[in-house]
Amino acid sequence: MLISLIVPCYNEAEALPLFYAEAARVAKEMQQSHGALFEFIFVDDGSKDDTLKTAKALREKDGRVRYLSFSRNFGKEAAIYAGLRAAKGDYAALLDADLQDPPALLPEMLNALLTGEYDCAATRRTTRKGEPPVRSFFSRMFYRLIHKMSDTEIMDGARDYRLMNRKMVNAVLSLGEYNRFSKGIFGWVGFRTKWFAYENIERAAGQTKWNFWKLFRYSIEGIVGFSTAPLAAAALLGVLFCLAALVMIGVIIVRTLVFGDPTNGWPSLVCIILLCSGVQLFCTGVLGEYLAKTYLEVKRRPLYLVREDSEEPGPPRP
Ligand code: UDP
Ligand code: MG
Repeated sequence: MLISLIVPCYNEAEALPLFYAEAARVAKEMQQSHGALFEFIFVDDGSKDDTLKTAKALREKDGRVRYLSFSRNFGKEAAIYAGLRAAKGDYAALLDADLQDPPALLPEMLNALLTGEYDCAATRRTTRKGEPPVRSFFSRMFYRLIHKMSDTEIMDGARDYRLMNRKMVNAVLSLGEYNRFSKGIFGWVGFRTKWFAYENIERAAGQTKWNFWKLFRYSIEGIVGFSTAPLAAAALLGVLFCLAALVMIGVIIVRTLVFGDPTNGWPSLVCIILLCSGVQLFCTGVLGEYLAKTYLEVKRRPLYLVREDSEEPGPPRP
C-alpha cells in the first residue's frame, strides 16, 4: 500500500523542513501500524525563495521525496492537479506545507478508508481562530451564498486537506477544466466522504499567500464554476424591471388623463435612468464573467508547465 502525500508549496522554504520532519514521523508510525509506504511529492509552484533547493536537499536525504517545479506561479489549484497527476499511490493525500493540516490525523483518516465504506476522508475546521474577523465574516457569507446557488455540495469550513483512494483521485483527474475550484470539484465527483473536524491551527512558519482580494477572486471562481444562478438572476432582474416599467407607464397615463401633465419629474427620470443602466451594466458584467471563463476554457491551455521534475532529469516532455 503506497500513500502519496501531495504538498503544494509556494515560498515555503521555512516551513518545508518542519513539514517533512512531522510527515516523516507520521509515515514511520503508519509503516509500523498499517504497513503503509509513502512518497512525498512537493509541488513547487514557482517559488521565489529557496523552496526548490530545500526540496532537493530533502530528496538527497530521503529517496521517498519527489519534487515538481513549475515554470512560474500557477496557483494552488494547478499545484494540486499536478501533484495528483504525479502521484503513484493507491491513496493520495493533499496537505498544506505550513502544518495547518496536521499529518497526525492521517492514520485515523486511513482507517476510515480501509473499512471500505468511504472513498475519501476530508477535513473541515470548526473554528477560525487566529483569522481576521472580516475574513471569517466574508467566508461565512460566501459559503451561505454558494450553498443557495449551487447544487454541488460545498462544505462550510472545508479544507483542501483530504485523503482519497485511487478511484476518487482518477475521478478528480478526469475533470481537466482550466478554472479549477477544488472544493467544488471534490463535491461534484461525489463518492463517499467521511468528514473529520478539527480546530484551526496557525501556520508553523512563513506567511499566508492569500490576501482579501485574492480570496474574493477565488470565491467568484467558485460561484461561476459551480453555479449558473447569477445568469438566471440577471434575466429575472430584467423581467422585474420590465414589469415595474409597465406598471409605471400605466400610472403615468392614468395620472395624465386625470390631472393633466404638469411637466415635472426630471430628477426622478435621472434616478430611473441611472438605476436601469446600472442594473444593465451589472448584468452585462455577470455575463462577461461567464464569457471570460468560457474563453479561458476553450483555449485549452495547459494548467501548469513543469520546469524541473525529480523523476525526469533533463527537459520535460509533454
Ligand atoms: N500555495 C501554492 N500556490 C499559491 C499559493 C499557495 O501552492 O499560489 C500553497 C502554500 O504554499 C500552502 C498552501 O497552498 O502550502 C496554502 O496556502 P496558505 O497557507 O498561504 O493559505 P492559508 O492557509 O492561509 O489559507
Ligand atoms: Mg496555511
